[in-house]
Amino acid sequence: AKKQRLDKVLSHMGAGSRSDIRKQAKQGLITVNGVPVKDSGMHVDPYQDQIEVGGEVFIYREYIYLMMNKPPGVLSATEDKRDRTVVDLLKHEYAVFEPFPVGRLDKDTVGLLLLTNDGKLAHELLSPRKHVPKTYEATVEGEVDADDVAAFAAGVELDDGYLTQPARLTILGRERGSKVISFISLTITEGKFHQVKRMFQAVGKKVTFLKRVSMGELKLDESLTPGAYRELTAQELGLLQ
Ligand code: URA
Repeated sequence: AKKQRLDKVLSHMGAGSRSDIRKQAKQGLITVNGVPVKDSGMHVDPYQDQIEVGGEVFIYREYIYLMMNKPPGVLSATEDKRDRTVVDLLKHEYAVFEPFPVGRLDKDTVGLLLLTNDGKLAHELLSPRKHVPKTYEATVEGEVDADDVAAFAAGVELDDGYLTQPARLTILGRERGSKVISFISLTITEGKFHQVKRMFQAVGKKVTFLKRVSMGELKLDESLTPGAYRELTAQELGLLQ
């Protein structure tokens, strides 16, 4: 495997800044294959060489997989001049892996967002040919009815003329105040720009709240408060691969 600078590997894994690592090496706290490190810029194979810091074996990994409950008002991007992004919400120990969001949720959309630095997995989840289902829950102005369910099952024409793939719409409930509002669940297998909002627009209705609850077999952990995130469990990762 590719050799990399020891200080870079360790700082990427959250062991401190490069200068912290240089100091620890000077103090004899870092060993590679049992030999104390003199030069923290030495090259190592992080998968093959046994690296110890302060007597603890350091286990290298290349990829990180995070599930976030995206809060409203935050962009699903890695950086932005004006707005806060989902990556800005991550602690340094995760940000060092340089994860990026898998697909996009609108700024006002909340719920399940996967962040990873595994480009291959991201590509597979996003590939239009894979038809990975994504389920959303939404609040919609107006009375969503059986005609809408049938229309979404057949495919609706978006404002740009695109005909959507069959989608499963479920009516969860309604509230009748001065206006009727509907609570729905919708599963789509594609990811056109603003797709859910535009599908409702196609049937003359407006989405006022949108939350993603699943992607493929992966479900949002509802115990994550908005903005909170955690690593996927091995089992969850298995569901995506
Ligand atoms: N569809 C939308 O309209 N917005 C999202 O954020 C996701 C799906």
